[in-house]
This record gives sequence, structure tokens and C-alpha cells, in this order.
Amino acid sequence: MRTAATRYWPSRIQPGPEPVTAASEGPAGGGLRIGVLGGGQLGRMLGLAGLPLGFEFLFLDPAADACAGSTGRLLQAAFDDEAGARALAEQVDVATFDFENVPTSSARAVQAVCPLYPGPRALAAGQDRLAEKDLVAGLGARLAPYRGVDSRTTLLEALDRVGYPAVLKTRRFGYDGKGQAILRDPEDLERAWQRLGDSPLVLEAFVAFDAECSLCGVRGGEGATRFWPLTRNVHDDGILALSLPGVFDGGLQAEAERIMTRLMDELDYVGVLTVEFFLARGELLVNEFAPRVHNSAHWTIDGADCSQFENHLRAIAGLPLGTTELTRPSLMFNWIGGLPALSEALAVAGLHWHDYGKQARAGRKVGHATLTASSPDELRQRAERLAAIAGGRFPALLETLFD
Ligand code: AMP
Repeated sequence: MRTAATRYWPSRIQPGPEPVTAASEGPAGGGLRIGVLGGGQLGRMLGLAGLPLGFEFLFLDPAADACAGSTGRLLQAAFDDEAGARALAEQVDVATFDFENVPTSSARAVQAVCPLYPGPRALAAGQDRLAEKDLVAGLGARLAPYRGVDSRTTLLEALDRVGYPAVLKTRRFGYDGKGQAILRDPEDLERAWQRLGDSPLVLEAFVAFDAECSLCGVRGGEGATRFWPLTRNVHDDGILALSLPGVFDGGLQAEAERIMTRLMDELDYVGVLTVEFFLARGELLVNEFAPRVHNSAHWTIDGADCSQFENHLRAIAGLPLGTTELTRPSLMFNWIGGLPALSEALAVAGLHWHDYGKQARAGRKVGHATLTASSPDELRQRAERLAAIAGGRFPALLETLFD
């Protein structure tokens, strides 16, 4: 059995039980030790899904109070601390990550010691919007027209090709609408350049979409794949607010699965992958993909046989994949910046509450709730009650979702 690196252990790691299974002791099963780069809510939900399987978790995160810590041990280190990454890898059987901006140097440091899934190529492609778009376009999927931008001159050239309105985005570190500016006419150009011009950028056409949706799928080490139903998503100010699975026809589902299968095969992917799409005039355009478990598939915890979290763990552990059908009408509400009153929300029938145990802060994802029901009509009634309780923009966003 490998020993812990004393630099990080035990002073900065919360004490926990000794690992049971060493990497060399054969197939995955109870006692498997999972290392996760990142200790946010996605890591926490991986932990919650893995504990019943008998797995043990070690999370690497710079924050001493990272919320995944309540489901495993926490190794406090910066994400670019290669020694920290190595220390994580030395104490686990297999590693993964809960956010895609893990530095590739840290991913390599892990991979030198233990398997890391998804692999570094998927990680790298998901970190750079231009590389991501080139990869997806090369596989024959449709995207909004786009161009790389690295100077005022290339921005003007890109605008000539893409036209107005367009969206200027940083190639790296953008998420939830951050690092983006909409260019409606030439007057927006200077302000957007002042704000974003220091970073490598990509310009893409603004898509007047009819709906946004995402496909979440999982691929096992031997190439078996499973897909949950396409999910319709409504964003508020760039952040996901509502996710409703199972409302698209079989043709769109099949098309989305074809795109994801090509991407998974190309990346020799292991684990859960999510592709976000714009649906415009009946066509799916790829917006971006995330090589990890994803906010728009949180409903799978309560509305599917096997959740995205459990299937991600099954895939990286080399275990059989679970079934991904929608078992009952479901709808996820995302709680941003604060939680509604628990006592009021729990009065809504079919409510499944997920509090991430994070400090409330503006713009921060602090929890979600999934409503389930026995019919679409019942789901809508329950959703209207919950939207009224949550207040803010939820009643209006819900109308967009059901329109
Ligand atoms: P992203 O971080 O790229 O997923 O963007 C966050 C949200 O901004 C998306 O879910 C859309 O609602 C919106 N958005 C991003 N890019 C575009 C685009 N090219 N056209 C229209 N809306 C967009």
C-alpha cells in the first residue's frame, strides 16, 4: 500500500479511516479509494453517490471548508500544486475531477501515479473554447460560426465573417456566462475589447435559439455508452436556473447521441460527459461540452434509475453502467445565491432537497431541488407552487420553460 505524503498528511487532511483496498488488489468494488481534484458541490454529490457503493473519497481543494469534505477526507492544496496532486494520487486507486480547469500539469502529476478519468486530452479540450469548437466541428457536428481572436485586427476580421450580433468569449476560464460580452453593433466593440482584450478570445455568432438543451452521457472503459434523456435548460443571466428532461422527440435525442458518441470515441472517453446545445429552427448546434458531471443532469439523482454521479463512479471504477431512463416526470430548480425557506419548500409534494452546505453568496450555486410527479400536469402544478415560494424570476423563467 502506498503511504501518504507527510507534507500534506495528516495536518491538513481531515482524519478518516485507513484505506482498505490497494490499487494492486484487483477489480473495483467496496473499499475503492477515489481521488477527486476539486471539492465543490459536484465532488460532494460524487461522494454521496459513492458512499453506498462502499467507496472512500479524498478531495483536493484549496479551501479548508470545501463542501465535499463532509463526504470524505480533504487534502488542502492549490490546484496547481503538483506535489499536492501527487499526494492525492498516492493515496487513491483512481482519480477524477469535479471542474474542468484543473491545470494540465497537475493532471499529469496525478496520471504518473494512478489512473485519471476522463483523460488529459478530454480535460485539455474542455478548457479552451477554440480547441473545443475545432474538435467538435472536425467531427462533423454543427456549431454557430466562430473565429479565434487575439488582436483588434483579428476581432474586426472575425466580425466581418461572423457578423452582428455576436458573442465575444474568453477562450479559457469562462463559465456561467462569465468572460463574455454580446456585440450587438459596432458601438459595443470598444467596451467589450477593453474588458476582455487581455485574454485570447473566440467570437461566435449570437444564436437566436428556440431552446437550450443538454445531453448527459456516460462511457465505460470498454466503450459501452448510456445516455440520459435530452434536457431542456433555462438560464438566467448566463447561469442555469431550470432543467426539464424528457420533452424532446426521439429524432433530436438520436442526433444528440450521435454527436456525443463521436466525441466520446474520439477522446477515448471514460466517465460522464455533457454537451450543451442550442436548438434553432429544429437543428442542434453545439455550444460547448463539459468533461465531467454537470449541473443540468442533477435531476438524475431523483428522476433516473442511476444518477450521473453514480454512473461516473461506475465508469471510472470499471463497473457495469446503470440504466439511464427517466423514471418519472422531473424538474430541477437551481438555487443561486441563497436557499428558499426549507419549511415552505418541503410542503410541496414530490420535492427532493439538495443543500450543498456552502456559505450563501451572490451568484454562488448553493443547492438545488428536484421535483418529481406522476404526470407532466402534476409536475407543472408542483413547479408553479415551488416557483411562487422561491420568488424572484422563477415564475417567469418557468413560463419560458413550459412555453
Ligand atoms: P456558456 O458559458 O458559453 O455556456 O454561455 C452561458 C449562456 O449564455 C448560454 O447557456 C446561453 O444562454 C448564452 N449564450 C452563450 N453563447 C451564446 C450564443 N452564441 N448565442 C446566444 N446565447 C448564448
